[in-house]
Amino acid sequence: MERAARLSGRGPKHSDFSNVTELSHSKKAVKLLAMRHSPPLYWSFWLLVFLTTSFTATPKTAAQYTPRAASEVTHWYRGNTHTHSLWSDGNDFPEMITEWYVKAGYDFMGLSDHNILAEGDKWVSADYILKKQRAVRKGALEKYLHRFGPDWVEQRTGKDGGQEVRLKTLAEYRSLFEKPGQFLILQAEEISASYYPEEGKALPIHINAVNVKEVVPPIKGTKGGASASEIIGANFQAIARQEAATGQPILAHLNHPNFQWSLTAQDLAAVVEDQFFEVYNGHPGINHLGDDTRPGDEAIWDIANTIRIAEMGEAPLFGLGTDDSHTYHGGDVSPGKGWIMVRAEKLEPAALIHAMRRGDFYASSGVFLEDIAYDPLTRQIALIISPDGDATFTSELIGTRKGYNATGAETGIGEVFATAEGREVTFTLPEDALYARVTITASVRPENPSHEGQMKQAWTQPVGWRN
Ligand SMILES: [Zn+2]
Ligand SMILES: [Zn+2]
Repeated sequence: MERAARLSGRGPKHSDFSNVTELSHSKKAVKLLAMRHSPPLYWSFWLLVFLTTSFTATPKTAAQYTPRAASEVTHWYRGNTHTHSLWSDGNDFPEMITEWYVKAGYDFMGLSDHNILAEGDKWVSADYILKKQRAVRKGALEKYLHRFGPDWVEQRTGKDGGQEVRLKTLAEYRSLFEKPGQFLILQAEEISASYYPEEGKALPIHINAVNVKEVVPPIKGTKGGASASEIIGANFQAIARQEAATGQPILAHLNHPNFQWSLTAQDLAAVVEDQFFEVYNGHPGINHLGDDTRPGDEAIWDIANTIRIAEMGEAPLFGLGTDDSHTYHGGDVSPGKGWIMVRAEKLEPAALIHAMRRGDFYASSGVFLEDIAYDPLTRQIALIISPDGDATFTSELIGTRKGYNATGAETGIGEVFATAEGREVTFTLPEDALYARVTITASVRPENPSHEGQMKQAWTQPVGWRN
């Protein structure tokens, strides 16, 4: 019965990390693993199970596009939830940026400008647009006019006699790009708040609210006032209030904790309202790798998750990859550096957000995965990595054991439990692991790297913490 349902495509969804349906998925994962040891007699049967249960999701990139068969239940959808336009401090028009993502093979994206949505009447001067361009080439306005034509582009003479251009609202431009099942735009905002440390000037707290209905005004700290985690928490609560009031799910993620060395792992751990943060942000100025004394984003992830799981009894943070692009005419704060792959049934906001809340997604700066399956009974995680030319892949199982020592010289937080080479990898979590996650690093560099020595990577979500 269960098998019949599965083979007909009405079986359990690909939520291998879902609490509710963990058992049925574990059976699937067992089959996935068993397949590799099956005698030839059963080969065709297992192949069928394998194809219908594990390969129903196909990665989609320009180079590796695989058509989605009609019988598929879930798909991998590629998206970026963090991008800036002329609506705040980005230097191109929303339509130009959106088209870049369409052409690059993304399935969804959100333009997330600072404390503003693309709505209402907003005009910008041609002078301002020119100044925002970092490279002297064909101007942003010229390119915009050339692509969309004078009938679409609205211009006027401003009060000071200078030329001005009206920015199109999301309501105006979304129909140029959106196609059901093909491309989706999520209305987004980068809530840009701040707090005052005990000494010194205000530091940034940036949180993306994706799939919002209306703007979420930032809640900012004052001198001698609330702590970083209190301000983060207050902003997450404001987002949750909008979700409760409208019934529309909002993906909220904390951004670039090391930007201006603003936030620590402890700050992130403390805010239990927050389920997501950026483990990779493509902006070259956000201190992704940390420095000699301060942890990078991956280490922050392990510290925060260890505190949450071991000391607070709370769920870990899930990690996203994003672009945070601002420049589109040269300059290195450009698009296409970081993204997420979400395994969902449909390319619709609620389906994507619910899949992410289950942990059914991974972050990437260049590596694609064909499958991730976690079996909570055997505590095995199995990955299949997509080929990428001649690239080879190293996967690391990373986590923290129950006996870690937060104050020791060797803390044991974010320990590399095991390493494996190749495109098909199966790891068993150590008995005493509080959780584990996998970082996959390719032997090749990204086309558009954000830091020195960067290799293409992917990051799967923490597993093994529910039991
Ligand atoms: Zn930011
Ligand atoms: Zn940003």
